[in-house]
Amino acid sequence: MSDNERVELAEMLFPNITKTREEYEKMYPERNLKEGAMVTRYAPSPTGSVHLGNLLSAFCDMVYARQSGGSYYLRIEDTDQKRKVEGGIENITGVLHDFLILPNEGYSFGGEYAPYIQSERNEIYQCYIKDLIKQGYAYPCFMSEEEIASIREEQEINKTKIGIYGVYAADRDLSLEEVKEKISNGEEYVIRLKSPGDAKKEIEVIDCIKGKMKFPEHDVDTILLKKDGTPTYHFAHAIDDHLMHTTHVIRGDEWVSSLPLHIQLFEILGFKPMKYAHIAPITIKDKETGNIRKISKRKDPFFGVKYYDENGIPIEALHLYLATITNTNFEEWYLNNSDKTINDFEFSFDKQAVGGTSFDEAKLMNLCKTYFSRKSGEEVYKETYHWALKHDTEYAKLLEENKEDMIKFFSIEKDGDRPRKDIAKYSDVREEFSYAIDELFIKEDYSKLESDKTYDLELVKEYIDNLDLNQSNEEWFHGVKEFAITHGYAANPKDYKKDPASYKGHVGDICEALRVVITGRTKSPDLLSIMKVLGKQKVEMRLNLYKEHINK
Ligand code: GLU
Repeated sequence: MSDNERVELAEMLFPNITKTREEYEKMYPERNLKEGAMVTRYAPSPTGSVHLGNLLSAFCDMVYARQSGGSYYLRIEDTDQKRKVEGGIENITGVLHDFLILPNEGYSFGGEYAPYIQSERNEIYQCYIKDLIKQGYAYPCFMSEEEIASIREEQEINKTKIGIYGVYAADRDLSLEEVKEKISNGEEYVIRLKSPGDAKKEIEVIDCIKGKMKFPEHDVDTILLKKDGTPTYHFAHAIDDHLMHTTHVIRGDEWVSSLPLHIQLFEILGFKPMKYAHIAPITIKDKETGNIRKISKRKDPFFGVKYYDENGIPIEALHLYLATITNTNFEEWYLNNSDKTINDFEFSFDKQAVGGTSFDEAKLMNLCKTYFSRKSGEEVYKETYHWALKHDTEYAKLLEENKEDMIKFFSIEKDGDRPRKDIAKYSDVREEFSYAIDELFIKEDYSKLESDKTYDLELVKEYIDNLDLNQSNEEWFHGVKEFAITHGYAANPKDYKKDPASYKGHVGDICEALRVVITGRTKSPDLLSIMKVLGKQKVEMRLNLYKEHINK
């Protein structure tokens, strides 16, 4: 086709597209950002529920944009109407709100590069397609599904590359007359790329995470616009990321194989190339087979984001975990810097795992425990209460009724270099602190107390009768030891071990008896602190309860 014929063809196919590329370029000008600022985007398709991999990618978008003073935006990629699910979009925005991975701009967040939803950008895509047709980089293809299927079959048998290219691209060089005839016959068409590539040549791409990669040039006439006039992912990606001035496309590495096509699209469209960062998938060692596999909706409960809310994993702790997956040096940095938060860490693509990152529940739990250990008693109260309001209303009520004491219990062993690491999740708090609330203590701890050990309750009574709750920790240690000695117990386990026949036991046995009576368990946070919050009266009541319990 001559230049003029291509212009005629473009006008014939897109008579309603009157805006020019230049007008769109003007509507979406360069961003006014400082040197080095990254513009990233989370670009989900509303095709199902949001999973951990999606969160990871949005999290990366957020942190890289934030630390460089750039912008992170949300773009809904809903070009595939067949795969769209009811409520999918609301679900995505809801998750970004719930998990505090909030974009600076985007669909439902507003911004200057709107619309941030592809189904409202058709005219823009068609404008650029029209231009590509004029330039000879795109053409209408009328091949039927059957024709394409039989080509595929042949290619599979011959083990050659799948797709419409070279000899298979039957409509590549149709004349204007032939196109007109087909259209007047009512034949449907898609718009294909007229790929200028040569697969014998190589291109080199430097991915921010994966480094240097080489590919054969793209030479397939990929579909750019579908029969219904909507774009394919590839074409929409090029147009949107260009017009929205993305600097870094951070996405899952299932898109690596599309890079040669994307780079070619940017070239023929005359767009400035952008940087790519392909994130490796989150993997797991399969319990049954022992093989490493991608995490899956069907097999792994932690795959869906609901899991984190329902189990009471604090959002900030989940962020810490996402940060550990994002940068291999994050965890060590965080554990060694107790006065710092995620915002103080400098993320870098160099420190991003190239292969898959394995999901590690123990690591997640450890980060959660560290998170809680760095929170004040008041913060633990506030957050747990907030979580319980949604997931355990009975507990929320108890927390409310016992607020003051609960804050004190949550504050025990918080000081010092090694604050207590007892809880990992809000859902652990009820059980972990059940000794703190009488109702739960009776209902939950006593029903579980299966101690077959007997304790000298007379001794415990005598201790409690003389208990002075105004003493310091040192005084208390000293006092228990004195008490032990006066009652025929060794002041420490060592003495007892040397000469067991001379003692009834050692000081540890007395403490254990007290602990079991007061908290219903053999291990607890600092007992004196617990007793101080309970007060003498409750401590006495616990002894009576214990007696009732063993006499049952
Ligand atoms: N809509 C694509 C997806 O959900 C986005 C890929 C990308 O970030 O470019 O997989």
